[in-house]
Amino acid sequence: MKVDWLIVGAGFTGSVLAERIASQLKQKVLLVEQRNHIGGNAYDYYDDQGVLVHQYGPHIFHTNAKYVWDYVAQFTEWRSYYHRVLAVVNGKPVPVPFNLNSLYALFPPNYADKLAQQLVEQYGFNVKVPILKIRESANGTDLKFLADYIYENIFHHYTFKQWGLKPEELAPSVTARVPIYVSRDDRYFQDEFQGLPKYGYTNLFRRLLNNKNIKVLLNTAYQEVIDEIQCQRVIFTGQIDEFFERMYGELPYRSLRFKSFYTEQEYKQPVATVNYPNEYAYTRITEFKHLTGQRVYGSAYIEEYPQPYKRDENIPYYPIPKEEYQALYKKYQAEIEKLKGRVLFAGRLADYQYYNMDQAVARALTLFQKVICKS
Ligand code: FAD
Ligand code: UDP
Repeated sequence: MKVDWLIVGAGFTGSVLAERIASQLKQKVLLVEQRNHIGGNAYDYYDDQGVLVHQYGPHIFHTNAKYVWDYVAQFTEWRSYYHRVLAVVNGKPVPVPFNLNSLYALFPPNYADKLAQQLVEQYGFNVKVPILKIRESANGTDLKFLADYIYENIFHHYTFKQWGLKPEELAPSVTARVPIYVSRDDRYFQDEFQGLPKYGYTNLFRRLLNNKNIKVLLNTAYQEVIDEIQCQRVIFTGQIDEFFERMYGELPYRSLRFKSFYTEQEYKQPVATVNYPNEYAYTRITEFKHLTGQRVYGSAYIEEYPQPYKRDENIPYYPIPKEEYQALYKKYQAEIEKLKGRVLFAGRLADYQYYNMDQAVARALTLFQKVICKS
């Protein structure tokens, strides 16, 4: 088979690049995907009871980049949605990211007033402070107590379950994703643009890839077909260490196991996601109807059980943000230079970066404009 481009991986990164190349450059793309569906980890489907579920965990699109939002909006209408998360702490549901409302959910009103006042005095109002920063900087007995309390009850055990590491052993950016927010705003994200594709992610991907210049080959690892395909260039969005046959050793990833449930209740829980930092082997339970707004009998939800990643056994969902692994990634990155631009690398697995969906889209759009269009 002869094409202009071979793209490996039909997640956001590979699919956006396929769409740009096919629609703007009018060149032929073969998109090869080893799973039996498009969409990568954003894939969703209707289960046996007719509930729209996210196979690989809850996906909420959020961004401050208008160009990313506008780009994706060409392929879908949006359902406006603000994600809200509760964490169960000592049996009480507490809004997360931890904010001023969380104080009142946990402590008697007078003490919550006092802590709120001190937080505002020390950090200002409407300010986000990562937990590791608060622990270093909290002044006075009450704020020190609060910093330790939040660390212990929200972050420490959850992070250990999720990564098998303590918060301080990871890049500070990991726990900074969910900062303490000195505010009454208890949405999980504050980005300007937030929502879910009105007809689901898979529908959005179908529309992205609906171009006569794109051919999609599912159930196929690129290694199986690479010798039969003549192409000018390759874009690889899989694991970078796999591409280079792990010549410097395996890059570590973190995996998850999802356990799915169906209930005949209208709703199982009050918000889409409830975190369990301190109990159980799972980290969180997500109920999909809250996300999708679907009106259907019964409800579906999943528990997420973090796992070590084992090659050929489970899926590498997360690169592990830790300095020594970045150093190993850099060795692979140096190998890219030697390919002289014939193979381009992008995406959560190929860049070994903890991208959100909007960052994966931004990465693909930038690669297209700055590299592909100029070469
Ligand atoms: P992927 O989606 O991983 O796609 C890569 C594709 O390449 C995969 O389909 C894979 O099968 C394929 N592939 C790999 N190797 C090969 C090979 N050798 N041959 C053929 N195919 C191959 N982001 C948000 O913005 N909001 C959220 O709420 C959110 N929630 C998340 C929840 C969970 C549990 C997880 C794991 C991620 C979440 N994300 C979220 C992140 C989001 O999933 C990623 O940003 C996005 O999937 C990255 O897209 P990608 O194309 O780079 O990678
Ligand atoms: N985190 C935590 N407790 C929580 C929520 C998050 O300790 O209740 C930490 C944990 O280390 C987690 C990180 O913050 O891995 C990022 O959380 P996020 O919800 O962004 O994770 P993702 O949705 O990417 O799994």
